[in-house]
Amino acid sequence: MSTRPPTPCPVCKSPAPWEANPDRPFCSERCRLIDLGRWVDGSYAIPGPAADPLEVEAERQVPSAEGQGGREPWG
Ligand SMILES: [Zn+2]
Repeated sequence: MSTRPPTPCPVCKSPAPWEANPDRPFCSERCRLIDLGRWVDGSYAIPGPAADPLEVEAERQVPSAEGQGGREPWG
């Protein structure tokens, strides 16, 4: 077992140290934040449905017009 060779930073493609690097696989915190920003920004294509599971769950729990059935405001 020897030390890992530097891996190319996914953001700037410069060799990033692996050992003792809290920001790996990025070369620096700056590149790590850039990558994070891309995700948040939506620049990366995310496979699958875009619907938020939490949103779908909330939609199913919309309260129905319970207790007001049959009563018409003009009646
Ligand atoms: Zn970098």
